[in-house]
Amino acid sequence: MGLEEKLPNGILLASVEKLVNWTRKSSLWPATFGLACCAIEMMTTGGPRYDLARFGMEVFRASPRQADLMIVAGRVTNKMAPVLRQIYDQMPEPRWVLAMGVCASSGGMFNNYAVVQGVDHVVPVDMYLPGCPPRPEMLIDAILKIHAKIMDEPLGPNRASVLAASGHTTDLI
Ligand code: SF4
Repeated sequence: MGLEEKLPNGILLASVEKLVNWTRKSSLWPATFGLACCAIEMMTTGGPRYDLARFGMEVFRASPRQADLMIVAGRVTNKMAPVLRQIYDQMPEPRWVLAMGVCASSGGMFNNYAVVQGVDHVVPVDMYLPGCPPRPEMLIDAILKIHAKIMDEPLGPNRASVLAASGHTTDLI
């Protein structure tokens, strides 16, 4: 008789990997980090109307050491880039980055000397969200896509190591 047949109904069998990933995606804690106008939509998403708490993540952390999701909400200037990288480095592994809006994703309309042309020049990005600004529904959709990504991630080497091994490096400004 197999193990499943011996167990009473209602016992859930899952791999440790799935279980750990489920707990991780169910309690993402975003860093408090807003750069420009997109941050207004991000703050709105955390309010009662859109109720991010439904996804276990209403607590924006003031300390990066308590955060595992960085939402880059707005354009990144060259002056701010080292600060952003330092905050990322202070976040514990595993950690994820969401580029919110066209400015964070590619520089957007700010194609000039002062603005980083995509935050992926500074930190590895897990999800790019278009829009200027993206609506709260779009941000929630991107967060749910990160949840799905987390569920498929292997335990073991962290993302940065995997990225480095596959030749995807990030340029630290
Ligand atoms: Fe502002 Fe639009 Fe850029 Fe967001 S994408 S920071 S709303 S200009």
